Amino acid sequence: MSEDIDVSLLPVPTDTALLKSEDWVPSVNFNERRATVNLCGSGAVQTACVKIDMLLLHYTATPTNDYALQLLTTAEGGVSSHYLVDGCGRIIQMVAEKYRAWHAGVAEWAGETDINSCSIGIEIQNQGYALERVPPYGEAQMAAVTELCADIVERNKIKLHRVLGHSDVAPHRKQDPGAHFDWSLLAKRGVGHWLSPEECEEFAPLHLNEVSLCELQRKLVAIGYGLEVTGEFDQRTEFVITAFQRHYRPFKVTGQLDQQTIELVDQLLDEIKA
Ligand SMILES: [Zn+2]
Repeated sequence: MSEDIDVSLLPVPTDTALLKSEDWVPSVNFNERRATVNLCGSGAVQTACVKIDMLLLHYTATPTNDYALQLLTTAEGGVSSHYLVDGCGRIIQMVAEKYRAWHAGVAEWAGETDINSCSIGIEIQNQGYALERVPPYGEAQMAAVTELCADIVERNKIKLHRVLGHSDVAPHRKQDPGAHFDWSLLAKRGVGHWLSPEECEEFAPLHLNEVSLCELQRKLVAIGYGLEVTGEFDQRTEFVITAFQRHYRPFKVTGQLDQQTIELVDQLLDEIKA
């Protein structure tokens, strides 16, 4: 938006009761959510913003929280999200939920490519895969993330299967929030799906024929992944399988097919349809 707006004049948002007023650090990087045009019965035109129906989780991939905050709030940084949860579990809001924050970039889910217009974004301070050893998310931080997610999902009536990681909607270029993120903890609080896969030692690779692979790709598309049904185990399919495993079987991310991965795809689709 927002060269013409003095963000310091923006009121503290009242989206969530979890925010303390001193933790409102407004970003210049936001704009209006995409408008939809509806024709009323009378023929009159009515415009409204795209409905918020997705929650998207990220890690900051920054060494410090201050640096993340700088990137997420300044024109030089050029990106933003609605919330940032620092390493101690402090919740900072940078963009009011009614506005479109700039966190998803080139992405796709269930045919929608303007993910920023339909989602709320939470950045979680973590150095991510920039380090050789990925630092875990701390207990206080995860507790804050979980409460914030539960609050957002409840207020905005976001469906379980629309609580996603950045790598779900941009599997070809993003890894966050990473295999070290505890989706099972969120699910215990009623946020998102968790499929409770068993941790086995061996995962024999499976090679599907063209027909079975088409079927699997169709199921992944039905879940929401941006994928073409080609009947080939192409690079995009490998990226999507990797993203799926990172989210639903984080203890074994191979990018390859095995029996358990195929069963988890079926299980998730069944739960979404239920
Ligand atoms: Zn991200």
